[in-house]
Amino acid sequence: MTNTPHEPDREQLRRHAQATVRGALDRAGERRRLLAVLLVDASDVSRVDQAAAHATGDRALAALEQRVRDCAPAGSAVVRLTRERLVVVAEQLDDRPDAVELAQALATRVREPLRLEQLTLRLDATVGLALAPEGRGTASALLRDADAAARQAHAAGERAWRLADAASHERAMRRLRLEDELATALAHDQLALYFQPIVSLRRGTLVGIEALVRWRHPERGLLGPAQFLPVAEESGLIVEIGDWMLAAVCTQVGSWSTRHPERVLPPVSLNVSARELRDERFAQRFTSALAGAQIPPESLALEVTDPGVVDERADVEEALEALRRLGVRILLDRFGGARSSLAHLAQLPIDGLKLDGSLLRAHGASPGERAIAEAIVGLAHALGLSITAPGIETQEQLAVVRSLEVDAAQGHLLARPAPASTLADLQDLELELAGGGGAAGGGAPEPSDELLPLSAVADALGVSPSTVRRLADQGVLPGTRTGGGHRRFRRADVQRLARERSRGPALRPWELPAHPLPASAELLAHDGSALVERAARALYDPQQPGWFAAPQGLARGRMWLAGLGGALAAGKAREGLTATSAYADAAALGGASAAEVVRFLGQFAAVVSHELVRAGGGPEEARGLQRIMSAATDAFLEKR
Ligand code: MG
Repeated sequence: MTNTPHEPDREQLRRHAQATVRGALDRAGERRRLLAVLLVDASDVSRVDQAAAHATGDRALAALEQRVRDCAPAGSAVVRLTRERLVVVAEQLDDRPDAVELAQALATRVREPLRLEQLTLRLDATVGLALAPEGRGTASALLRDADAAARQAHAAGERAWRLADAASHERAMRRLRLEDELATALAHDQLALYFQPIVSLRRGTLVGIEALVRWRHPERGLLGPAQFLPVAEESGLIVEIGDWMLAAVCTQVGSWSTRHPERVLPPVSLNVSARELRDERFAQRFTSALAGAQIPPESLALEVTDPGVVDERADVEEALEALRRLGVRILLDRFGGARSSLAHLAQLPIDGLKLDGSLLRAHGASPGERAIAEAIVGLAHALGLSITAPGIETQEQLAVVRSLEVDAAQGHLLARPAPASTLADLQDLELELAGGGGAAGGGAPEPSDELLPLSAVADALGVSPSTVRRLADQGVLPGTRTGGGHRRFRRADVQRLARERSRGPALRPWELPAHPLPASAELLAHDGSALVERAARALYDPQQPGWFAAPQGLARGRMWLAGLGGALAAGKAREGLTATSAYADAAALGGASAAEVVRFLGQFAAVVSHELVRAGGGPEEARGLQRIMSAATDAFLEKR
């Protein structure tokens, strides 16, 4: 640290604060009473200094000090430790709950908006609480612990106060070491990007890829995000890590599209921390990274990890809204946890939800958790939001999310996170999934003639036991009875019924665009044949072109385009859907497999969206076309 003219002052303040705490400790020791030291950290005032002026910052701090004095119980001392740190030394508290209550009250009061002349300011002040039961401890340790606690409270975001203890101090020290190492990791290229596929439960196709960070620690090996991101959050390094990830993801997406010019990848999603979103330059950094890598905004999605932040910050919402208008998909991550609010969903500028892992335990959910998950899925669908279930590791979980009609899933059962090099052939992965092979097809490794009890069937189908009885009585689900009269059902029958239910009448119809899509119609009229060829070529090995890329497929494709283009221009989406369904049926008759048909329609929608956005067309049109292709895919699959 460099010498500044303020240092003598600071030293004086510190000595005075220590003397005050020491005196109080002595008295508390004599009377065997609790002493509480509360440190109010308002270092956030630097924002005011920068935005307005140092003098305004000083006035804000003076007003803050008055609030602290008003809040402090009678007989407490209030002393200043630094320009932006105040200490309350409270000797008259009876026990810990009183101290915690005081910390809470103080934190609430200091975070209320401050009115200074025409300005309304809000300081993100935090409170650190250190306790000395019966006056045990030293003044410097108490001040240090309260300070560390205040900093931790700051890093935790919306939690505005925190209690310090010896264990938390030890953790703080370990964090400091980790923080140093992490700064080195950034400088020495020890961070690595991993990618995990997100798979559509309707079709088994790839609908997204989540970018995840790993740390190749020189001594501790490969570390997962949970082992270092909390520290990064607290230290502020999260912003640099976020920048690094954004740049690395953009580079990777750019390289994928160069290597596979015929393919349009599903969006790659990045996790965004609360702290990054609070930075008003976030949207700008994001868009310039996209521009630098020359990739369209559709290539990326953001997973916003802290719903609390989205709820309370209008500026965060604005940034998200701006990115969304560009075409970046916004997903609310870990939704359904204790702090999530269903009421806010309708107002947030988001495209989809990712469920909180706590709702999807390894062996299914409790009835209460299931009810919550059902409510979330129902509301989200009513609002037109997509739902992804991450962390799917078991067949039980997969069965639960299927029965909940979740749109997409992600997890070790489907595909593990992998470095980009091994994901190079995304095409193979997609074909495998679309072909119904692998876990996404719903196939279970268990023997299919195994007999299941009624309760297991109810769980697997996501219905009540009485519904299972009714289905059995109606003959929809054949069953047998044990000698004791208990019903048993073959696993294969249950699986068949589950598949039918996920595709059958319960299938939510796609909302087709109600208006003409003029930009899409024009694009199809001019470049349609080239786009069909591009989508078709993406499907096949050049040596073995299948139906879509063969002359008869391409000729049939031109007919389809005429019908589709006309329907889009006239605003008759349903006619476009009919033309597309006829084309899909012709492909199947001509020998294309179901997987080829599904992939072609998805690929075509992606290629057209890409072109629309590149030509400056609205993401709205791209979404409209996507919905028609998705509806055609569903219609096609339902006939199989
Ligand atoms: Mg995530």
